This record gives sequence, C-alpha cells and structure tokens, in this order.
Amino acid sequence: MTVRTILHHIDGRETAGASSRTAPVWDPATGEQQADVLLAEAADVDAAVRAARAALPGWADTSVMRRSRLMFAFRNLVEKHLDEIARLVSAEHGKVLDDARGEVVRGLEVIDFACGIPQLLKGDYSDQVSTGVDLFSFRQPLGVCAGISPFNFPAMVPMWMHPIAIATGNTFVLKPSERDPSVSNFVAGLYADAGLPGGVFNVVHGDKVAVDAILDHPDVAAVSFVGSTPVAKYVHDRASSNGKRVQALGGAKNHAVVLPDADLDQAADHLVSAAYGSAGQRCMAISVAVAVGDVAGPLVDLLRKKAEAIKVGPGLAAGSEMGPVVSREALSRITGAIRSGLDAGAELLLDGREIDVHGDGFFVGPTLFDRVTPEMDVYREEIFGPVLVVVRAGSLAEAIDLVNAGDWANGTAIFTTSGQAARTFQRSVQVGMIGINVPIPVPMAFYSFGGWKQSLFGAHHMHGPEGVAFYTRAKAVTSRWPEDGAHQRSDLHFPTAV
Ligand code: NAD
Repeated sequence: MTVRTILHHIDGRETAGASSRTAPVWDPATGEQQADVLLAEAADVDAAVRAARAALPGWADTSVMRRSRLMFAFRNLVEKHLDEIARLVSAEHGKVLDDARGEVVRGLEVIDFACGIPQLLKGDYSDQVSTGVDLFSFRQPLGVCAGISPFNFPAMVPMWMHPIAIATGNTFVLKPSERDPSVSNFVAGLYADAGLPGGVFNVVHGDKVAVDAILDHPDVAAVSFVGSTPVAKYVHDRASSNGKRVQALGGAKNHAVVLPDADLDQAADHLVSAAYGSAGQRCMAISVAVAVGDVAGPLVDLLRKKAEAIKVGPGLAAGSEMGPVVSREALSRITGAIRSGLDAGAELLLDGREIDVHGDGFFVGPTLFDRVTPEMDVYREEIFGPVLVVVRAGSLAEAIDLVNAGDWANGTAIFTTSGQAARTFQRSVQVGMIGINVPIPVPMAFYSFGGWKQSLFGAHHMHGPEGVAFYTRAKAVTSRWPEDGAHQRSDLHFPTAV
C-alpha cells in the first residue's frame, strides 16, 4: 500500500530537501498507517535556518503595526479553519473532535494575545534623569528562533511559541512531533495566506537528528521545547552550552487534593475529566487523586461510577468521549504500568486493558487504582495514559508534603469549600500552576504557562509576558542632545546624575 508523504515546509514551499528517511504516521483509531513523514537530515535544518536568516532583516524591520495586522489576518484564518485543524489533530493524535477543537481555541488565544504586540512591546521612558539627559528602553527580536514540540498538542503547543516569536520580529523554524505532523504544514499554509513572507515560518519534520541539528546550529538564537523531562533537560543543556537562550518544558505527575469539605460529586466529575480527557495524554492531566481523611471511600465510589460511564471510541466518531492513545508503544507502556501497579499491591478498581473497542486501534480504557503508595512505580512514573491513582492522606499538611515531595511540579489542584485551606495550599505547594476547584489550571494566554522543578528548565515560562520577554532582548539608551555650541566638560569620575 502506498501512502502520502508529508514534506517539510521551507521558505514558503513544501520540499523533500535532502531527506530520505521516513517514519510512519498511524491512525490510532484503527492501527493502520495513514502517511509517511520525512525525517530531516542536518542539511534540511540548515536549509530552513538559512531561509529564516535570509527573511530576518526584512521581517525584523517590518513595522510593529504591520506585524500586528498580519497576526490579525492569521488569527482570522485559524478561526475560519478551526474545524479542519481539529480534524487533522484528531486523525493523527486520536483525541476526540471536541477536545481537538478546545486545543485549537486555546492556541488561538495565544494568537489573539500576539495581535496586541504594539502594546506589549512598549518600552519605558524617563525624562531628565540627569540635567539634559533622558533614559529609555525598548526590546528587539533575537533572530532565528526554533520550536520543538510534543505529540500531545500538535496545534496548541507550537502556537504557544510561533505567534509570539513572529509578532516580536523573529523568524521561526518549527520541528513538530513526528507522530502527528500534518497540522504544522496546514498552519504554514495559513501563515502564507495571511501574507507572511516566505522564510519567516518554516516547518522541518524529524527526530533526534533534526533536534540535534537545531541545538548545534550557530544561527539559531533561541530554542523553545516542550516534551518529556529527560529530553527537555538534554535540549536545555545542549542548547545552553551552545550559547542559545532556552526554555524547555518537561513532564508532569499532577496531584489533585480532595478535602472532606469538598463538594464530592463536583470534585469527582472534575477529576474524571482531568484524568481521562485526551486519554490522559495531557501535561496538565490529573494522574494522582489525594483523598484526605474519610473522603476516600465515597470519592473512590464516585470516581469508579463516572469513569465506567465514559464512552471510549474513535476520536472522529460522534459520541466518543475518549479516544485511543497515540501509538502502539504508548499502549504497551500504559498496559505495562497497569501490570506493575497490580504487582506492587495496588487495588485495581477499573482495568482499562479489558476494553475492546476496535480491532487494532490503540485503545486502553479508563483505569482506576486505589490504595496506591508513594514508593510504587505506578505513583512515581509519568504514565501519560488514562490511569488515575488514588493515594490516601490523613490531613491537608500530609497531602501538601506529598505534592512537594515529587520531582515534577507542573500543575496541582485542590477541591475544598474552605478559603483558608485553599490559601494554605496555594502558598505552600512548590508547583508552577495551581487550581482551586479547577482541575486543569492552564493559565490564559495573557498569563504565562510553566511548571517548576523537573517540569521546566530555563528561566522563562511560555506565552504571556514571559513569552514576550523570552523572544526579545532589551536595550537601555541614555541620551543627551546638547544645545548647539554648549560644550559640557567631562571628567574621569564615574558619571552620576546632576
Ligand atoms: P518527547 O520528549 O518524546 O518528544 C518531544 C519532542 O522531542 C518531539 O518533537 C520529538 O521528536 C523530540 N525528541 C524525542 N526524543 C528525542 C531525543 N532523544 N533527542 C532529541 N529529541 C527528541 O515527548 P512526547 O512523547 O512527544 O510528549 C509527551 C511528553 O511531553 C510528556 O512527558 C508530557 O508531560 C510532556 N508535555 C509537557 C508539557 C508542559 O507544558 N510541561 C506540555 C505537553 C507535553
């Protein structure tokens, strides 16, 4: 069977470049291959970076109003094609269509934010800081920026990066996940339709070879990465040692703490959607429920009842609430984790391995473990699948200690009706994003997204003000315009204000 080949998008056109290696792109709902994607060689990355470098002077010099107008045109096209983009996401990732639409909307919000770039790039000005002297600051783009993104949000995560990088005057090379690559080429087409000059936004598909070529390329000024923790750390260390600015977001194991005073039915609803939505393949998924005090019994009963009711099916089929996982490897990793939980003595209340939806699709159903303890692998490892584990804690303080003992610190949530407990929680947990009766506290685009500890390497979170700061650098100008003929004497002292 011949399948279509997904090409790179470099300098405004699709090209195979120097690539001959390919990877299969699967249909997770059927287990069949639907395409091949090219895997770039270093020469392809070099071609993309050269195109981005050639486009840089013109784009960086384009007025901020024109860049803003172009972003408006791009956002309108993304909105117009929202359903098409969501279908592409669903077809290659496997997530259900509504969830894919939600992802595109959250990406669109970052483009909305980038449309306001004239406001975001305003500098500071201080008049008369010394007699006849003014001081002002402004920000300029870095140059060619690169983005390397994970499979789980093929539209949204790159949109955390490129709209802000481009609006601030940089040019961009995106290396999306090789598992769901099509949406990035579609987005490149929308940028072109919006009027973006060729070379400003480029897409290079590939694996570690492409990533390493980006990290080592002397003309790449900055790298934004989102993916698993070991690769995030590797990307951060290698790109930093090559003198690049880096933000590298890693994996997660997010806890939700449920206190005895919480509205249990609502908490269970939220936990089920946050644990099993997108088949648990979200960096902000809740994978650990910490039941405090006597809440455990009733909470576990509700979780089981609600998880059992989830309709699992192909992402593009009407009525499906949870789709397959992304690949056969992911499926076997997740079923292996379920086995390890059982072997370690956890109580398996719902076994996703028993589901039989579609012959060879990569399906695993909602899985629920109770009486999990912190030394078990099922607690310690990021499973990145529809597996929720319940850990029991005696008090809020014990629950907070548990949250803080983890290596990852992306998101966490608390369910309670006590403002005081919530405040203690928000001030004590060592985690980047916190939800109070909100299970997936992804900040809006005008705030910044990022975790702590092993969930983020580098100083900047993504999008929002930190995104603008990441993709620009500041100049501070101290200026004097002496009146004609008025010569001011200078001496050898370090200058101070007069
Ligand atoms: P991944 O780390 O396997 O891949 C991410 C990117 O790195 C891909 O583009 C891939 O091609 C590349 N890559 C993979 N292995 C590499 C290697 N050895 N050397 C160089 N490059 C390599 O991650 P994934 O499986 O695509 O995505 C899931 C992971 O991403 C999970 O751990 C999830 O928690 C994390 N994630 C984190 C966030 C966040 O905001 N913190 C958001 C989404 C996903």
